[in-house]
Formats: sequence, structure tokens, C-alpha cells
Amino acid sequence: MINVKNLMKKFDNVKVLESIDFSVKKGEVVCLIGPSGSGKTTLLRCLNLLETPNGGSIMIGNKKLQLVGKPPSKKDTIELRSYSGMVFQGFHLFPHKTVMENIIEAPLMVKKRNKTEVIKEGEVLLQKVGMFEHRDKYPDSLSGGQQQRVAIARALMMKPEVMLFDEPTSALDPQLIGEVLRVIEDLAKEGQTMVIVTHEMNFARRVADKVLFMDGGYIIEEGPPTQVLENPQEDRTKQFLRMID
Ligand code: ADP
Repeated sequence: MINVKNLMKKFDNVKVLESIDFSVKKGEVVCLIGPSGSGKTTLLRCLNLLETPNGGSIMIGNKKLQLVGKPPSKKDTIELRSYSGMVFQGFHLFPHKTVMENIIEAPLMVKKRNKTEVIKEGEVLLQKVGMFEHRDKYPDSLSGGQQQRVAIARALMMKPEVMLFDEPTSALDPQLIGEVLRVIEDLAKEGQTMVIVTHEMNFARRVADKVLFMDGGYIIEEGPPTQVLENPQEDRTKQFLRMID
């Protein structure tokens, strides 16, 4: 479903991602972990071209893109993005739209779909994330956990092959984290392919098929959580896990 080869990213001539190679199979959940500044968010943002990589290739779904140091064309960007849905740390809902208006916006405007049908699908997804009864409310009247569950529903409305989560719970008060992680776990059980940047190690242990440990712009170690989290081979992984324990 995802195949990344030799991906590289520089900011102002400073390399923040170096020769990144990894792949994700259909239905797999991959968690990206590692210290702050190691390049996790940049890697995730490169996958949907919110950052333009300086080299390498990205394949998602049926779209393969070779990056050559200049921004890809609009057509290529749109095609690659059509395979993924992104959920950000900070929710990013439209403040002047209700919950339902937020989640139907893209299918209506981008896919030009029938409104009645889209609303029906929206109702199903809002039920799924436990937000149906809040469908007519505005984001600022919701808790962070509720807003994030709406943001997840909004991304799912486009039926992406892959869901990308950038630290989806790190802006939340501790008591709201569980409700968001539960929704993501339910998606994992349904076989949704996902790449998740997270600091929640217990969550990664439960949902990940594969954990990638990053440090200094490299993938240092990867494997199933039982291996990377319980029995790491690399010193840097061991150090990181000791530090966050
Ligand atoms: P992580 O998600 O692991 O905390 P990031 O991907 O956010 O790491 O950052 C990796 C490195 O890239 C850091 O050194 C960070 O300061 C740098 N960086 C991230 N975004 C930018 C940017 N827009 N401009 C310049 N440097 C950036």
C-alpha cells in the first residue's frame, strides 16, 4: 500500500530525513516513534506532500512519484493525496461550520457528490466515532477529544486507503486521550491501513503490526512491537525506551 524508497528531506540545507526506506502492507498499522526532532512528523508530512521531499520515491496505492528536488505537479500531488487522509495534532476543523458541515465539505466540494448520500454516510461515521448527537454543534463547543474524533470522521469521509495520524493525542488533556485512541483502535480492528506518529507506547504495543524507531532523521530499527519495544537491538532504541519509561 505504501512503499517509500531513499526518501530525503532538507530544511535550509540541513538534512532532517536521510535515505528513508519503508513499506506498509494493506491493513497494516505502523507506528512511528522516537525522540522529539527525529523527523517523524516530517516523514508523515512528506507522505502526502505537505512537505516536498528533496529526493527518493513514494508510492501510495496506485500512485508512484519520483521526487527530484522540485515540487511535484499539482496533478501528481492531488493524485498521491487522494490515497491518504490526515489527522493532525491540532484537529484543524473549520470553526464556522458545524460538525456535520465539517465532515461533508470535502466529499461535496472535491468529489462533487450527492448531498443526501454524503449526509447519510456522515451520520454512519459520526455514530462510529461517538459524535452523532453532536452533529449540529460548532467545534468550539466541543472538547479536544470530541474535536479530534470529528477530525477522524472527516478524514474517513474521503474513504482513504491509508490514514495518517500525526501525534493525534498530544494536544489533549490526559483524560481525553483514551476516547481518541479507542476510535483509532477500532479502525485498526477493521483493517484500516494506518501510519501513526505517537508517544503512546502502550497504544503502539496494542495496535501496531510494525514499529519504526527513528532518531536523527534515520529509521534506526523496525519490527513488530514485541521486538522493537520489548527486545530492542539498537543502543539508541534502548536508550529512548529507558528515557520515556
Ligand atoms: P519529530 O516529529 O520527530 O519531533 P520533526 O519532523 O518535527 O521531528 O522535525 C525534524 C527536524 O526538522 C527538527 O530538527 C526540526 O527542527 C526540523 N524542522 C521541522 N520542520 C521544519 C521547518 N518547517 N523548517 C525548518 N526546520 C524544520
